[in-house]
Amino acid sequence: MSEAPLQVAVVGAGWAGLAAAVAAHEGGARVTVFEAAPHPGGRARRIVHRDAQNLDNGQHILIGAYAECLRLMRHVGVPIEQALLRRPLSLRFPGGDGLCLPDWPAPLDALAGILGARGWSWRERLALLGASLRWQLAGYRCPPGQTVQALCQGLPPRLMAELIEPLCVSALNTLSASASAEVFLRVLRDSLAGPSGGSNLLIPQVDLGALWPEAAVRWLQRQGHTVHLAQPVQALQHGHGGWQVDTSTQRFDRLILACPAWEAQRLLGRLEGLPPDQQQAVDTWCRLAAGLQHAAIATVYAQAESRSATPLRLPEPMLALRSGPQAPAQFVFDRGQLGGPKGLLAFVVSASPAADRHALQAEVLAQGMQALAACGLSTLQPLLTVLEKRATFVCSPGLRRPPTEVLPGLQACGDHVQGPYPATLEGAALSGSAAGRRVTAR
Ligand SMILES: Cc1cc2nc3c(=O)[nH]c(=O)nc-3n(C[C@H](O)[C@H](O)[C@H](O)COP(=O)(O)OP(=O)(O)OC[C@H]3O[C@@H](n4cnc5c(N)ncnc54)[C@H](O)[C@@H]3O)c2cc1C
Repeated sequence: MSEAPLQVAVVGAGWAGLAAAVAAHEGGARVTVFEAAPHPGGRARRIVHRDAQNLDNGQHILIGAYAECLRLMRHVGVPIEQALLRRPLSLRFPGGDGLCLPDWPAPLDALAGILGARGWSWRERLALLGASLRWQLAGYRCPPGQTVQALCQGLPPRLMAELIEPLCVSALNTLSASASAEVFLRVLRDSLAGPSGGSNLLIPQVDLGALWPEAAVRWLQRQGHTVHLAQPVQALQHGHGGWQVDTSTQRFDRLILACPAWEAQRLLGRLEGLPPDQQQAVDTWCRLAAGLQHAAIATVYAQAESRSATPLRLPEPMLALRSGPQAPAQFVFDRGQLGGPKGLLAFVVSASPAADRHALQAEVLAQGMQALAACGLSTLQPLLTVLEKRATFVCSPGLRRPPTEVLPGLQACGDHVQGPYPATLEGAALSGSAAGRRVTAR
């Protein structure tokens, strides 16, 4: 007689929760997903502006090394070649200066890119090659307490401003002075020094809902699983070898918490009647979750007109920007080249000081007008500024993140749990897939 399938509940339908649900399905479980928001995707979700225009909760970018995200997208039938624009790594500024790798196999692409970087002196190019060689010879390892700034000590200021700082804030959402060099080197190893194409930029050409979460929900439903949207979980109960979610009478054999760290902490903090050893494990998990600090990311959407009264088209779909105290954005994306309306720009402020949204928007628009004048920009009309205050955890040196296993039968997943990467879609997807596999491993 075949065994009844395990009943698995997943709290949260961000990239981690949906990855966990897909993996639990592969492990033979019957899955029920509870999501608080009316749409799946979590921090990487579509938002509809003024009931008309599809925008994203924040402009996102993937890279070729996001193997788990790409595997999951293929798995649920997302046409990757249409959904993502693949480009060799480019950190070009509006005037054309900066790094741009040719479409060659690794590591020749990085070597040629550094030697051919525009606007850098030979001393700067050789300094970067020297540092890259030292990092490679050290196996991309460094003391756990080191910051990116300390790792890069001695690199010329232009390299810090035009390469290291933009890479560091975009990958770790943490400024180099307080970012973990260990994690930064791991990202460099897996992208620039990994298999060919790992450093490629994969820029979404569809909104973030269509990129994966909505396809994943439809796929789960087709397999007979249940996804409850707009159903925030208020409380959990544990007993008789299983779990109950809110007041539902359904009993789950396993539970996966795929909500953000603070929400998982709230739900765990309300569990009652645990034996002392389990209570201690929960307390430890909650203490580590409470120790995470968070950093903001802002995305300023604006409609651009060019001097020829036609919508602006930037020289590349993504350009780096010189950022500073009154110029907070590090990147601008031309969504008109990415499946969006012509002239729609998205300015990204990572590690944002989380200032007042209107003040931030005004600074970014002024920065954009100045930086993109050479591209023919004449006007910028603000559309929407999304300031996500707890966008990611601050990826500081030696940070201890909460573990995946909370209790037997209870796993946590998300970009915040222990894992190799900073808070990214790939980190979330990897941790979700691992949690889904673990709960179904008999
Ligand atoms: C503005 C911005 C820009 C970013 N840019 C990039 C980028 O370019 N590249 C990249 O790789 N990463 C980027 N990230 C990070 C990336 O979005 C996250 O790492 C990833 O989305 C985290 O996924 P997650 O599933 O772990 O968490 P979340 O996306 O937070 O998902 C958790 C889900 O749980 C739900 N939930 C919460 N409480 C409950 C409850 N009580 N009951 C039921 N459901 C609940 C939430 O509604 C949410 O849907 C960015 C993040 C932001 C905010």
